[in-house]
Amino acid sequence: MKIIDAHAHIGSLPSLSASRRLILSSMRKYGLAYSLISNTDGAEFPSIGDKTPKNESTLEILKQTVAFHLAHPDRIGALMWVRPMEEQPTKELIAYIKRNRKDIVGMKFHPYEEHLPIDDPKLKAWLDLAEEFDFPVLVHTAIDEYSSIRHLERICLAYPGLKFCAAHMELCTDNAYCLETMKRCPNMYADCAWVPLAHAKAVLREVGIERIMFGTDNPIDGLDTLANPMYREYFDPNNGLTSKEREHLFYSNAKAFYRLSDI
Ligand SMILES: [Zn+2]
Repeated sequence: MKIIDAHAHIGSLPSLSASRRLILSSMRKYGLAYSLISNTDGAEFPSIGDKTPKNESTLEILKQTVAFHLAHPDRIGALMWVRPMEEQPTKELIAYIKRNRKDIVGMKFHPYEEHLPIDDPKLKAWLDLAEEFDFPVLVHTAIDEYSSIRHLERICLAYPGLKFCAAHMELCTDNAYCLETMKRCPNMYADCAWVPLAHAKAVLREVGIERIMFGTDNPIDGLDTLANPMYREYFDPNNGLTSKEREHLFYSNAKAFYRLSDI
């Protein structure tokens, strides 16, 4: 069975090239077929790695991510990290997306690293852009004031035609509120980055077998992020997942959500 990691990063961790090497070597070590990458250098208030804001545009950040994809098209997919302080997507960015749409699988928004909740009016132009290009949207969710599931819930209801992935199922919680919200919002999906396997199983069994995908945040936890005990239970062949659940969680859900036709 192929494994897709639907949530991984490059960035100054400590450098763009080092993070690229780290992703590729850990994919080999853990047998991952494909990783979806966003570039943490888009953070306007970085809390990990090099904490100096890069002040590069969404377009420059995106070009770095697409370059990694183009160097490894069969292993790496590119998500556009959105920097909402730009207020509006620029003409240059929109022209670039039009030219390269097939090499960009979706949008990533990180409320904590941007100090902005997803339902802030500043995000409207960016969500409209997601609608225009039919991008699925990966959103960091956590207990803090910017990242709570309540913000994402409002946006899922306001944009029923868009699909959203709640990264981490609201980090630093027991994931229960996220699970209940997913039952109310059919366009809210989740990834299991830093989510205990038992809670991912609850989504598969109580919300729907299509609604959660494997993701790790690799390499945010350092050189061997996937060795974290949190992920060891996902890789354990005796972890109690049925073969159908395994197939959906590790492969087909991310493939469908991000429309990865060639993987
Ligand atoms: Zn992440």
